[in-house]
Amino acid sequence: MARERIIDAEARDVQEERYDLTLRPQSIDDCIGQEKLLEKITIALQAAKQRNEPMEHTLLHGPPGLGKTTVAHVIANEMGANLKTSSGPALTRPGDLMGILTNLQRGDVLFIDEIHRLPAVVEEFIYPAMEDFRVDFTVDSGMHAKTINIPLQPFTLIGATTRAGLITAPLRARFGIQHHLEFWSQEHLGQCLERAGGMLKIAYDSDAVALLSKCSRGTPRVANRLLRRVRDYAQVHGEGKITKEMACAALRIEEIDETGLDNLDRMFLRSLIETYNGGPAGIEALAATLGQERDTLEDVVEPYLLQIGFVARTRSGRVATEAAYKHLGLKYGGRKQSDGQESLF
Ligand code: ADP
Repeated sequence: MARERIIDAEARDVQEERYDLTLRPQSIDDCIGQEKLLEKITIALQAAKQRNEPMEHTLLHGPPGLGKTTVAHVIANEMGANLKTSSGPALTRPGDLMGILTNLQRGDVLFIDEIHRLPAVVEEFIYPAMEDFRVDFTVDSGMHAKTINIPLQPFTLIGATTRAGLITAPLRARFGIQHHLEFWSQEHLGQCLERAGGMLKIAYDSDAVALLSKCSRGTPRVANRLLRRVRDYAQVHGEGKITKEMACAALRIEEIDETGLDNLDRMFLRSLIETYNGGPAGIEALAATLGQERDTLEDVVEPYLLQIGFVARTRSGRVATEAAYKHLGLKYGGRKQSDGQESLF
């Protein structure tokens, strides 16, 4: 069985979901970072409340684990509304969406994750719902076909996607607010870890927090997950306090290096450098070589490698940069400098 990746984007199990739930900010004041997005939302919320209308439909895009679901929760809480969640792949038929929409109460927030995977038939159905708060339902077919308009309660749709490029233009145009979530700075990740440490009553040293922030791939979900792993390690091998030594040891077990990369990241870079001579290589080819889903590479692995400048995207494919060679201890141009064993701390 493949080893679980600690940097995986999605929450993995019930326990992790519970942990996520505990740490998820409930209000704008609870949130860390995201200043630009929170400013947009604060204004939109205030304006909506003054007009006694639901907030505008909002599209959030960016890599997983950066806070899209959290923002949806915060908006619903701030509006004093209910949050209903679903996802693109779960809404296979118009009837699935119809059931959800007709049950929404005035002002409710509907969060659709992976909205780029909404089937075309469902997507068309969502347009009048977003624009005029009604659904057009066709009954019967052929000569007897009839369209029934069903009014809906005004609601806010929050769409989340890791692939803004796959959202169709008509759907995108119906979102009044659109925002791209960026990877977090180490400073904000540090604040996130300290907040989580405080909430979970974990004692920690500041240099341990600094190390964990550096190894969290710019992603608060990863930071929280690493904290959990280090907490376990410190409980078993130390006295419960998260020291730098404990953090280093736990990260070594997880095979996470000083840049936050794990085995799959390094395999991606190695494959690009050794099999494809540094690139350019197509994502399909890399996925086949690594035996991974293309989506995993595009959604989870690549964005961070692009962000830290280890990979560049060209028109003919992905290319490993000099920094990537250096990180793996390889000579730029593909020849090894050392024995190729990249160091973990
Ligand atoms: P996404 O929906 O983009 O995959 P989530 O909203 O589930 O990401 O965020 C992952 C975790 O990161 C949350 O459980 C929460 O603990 C933390 N998080 C996200 N945004 C914030 C924030 N603004 N402040 C503090 N913690 C946050």
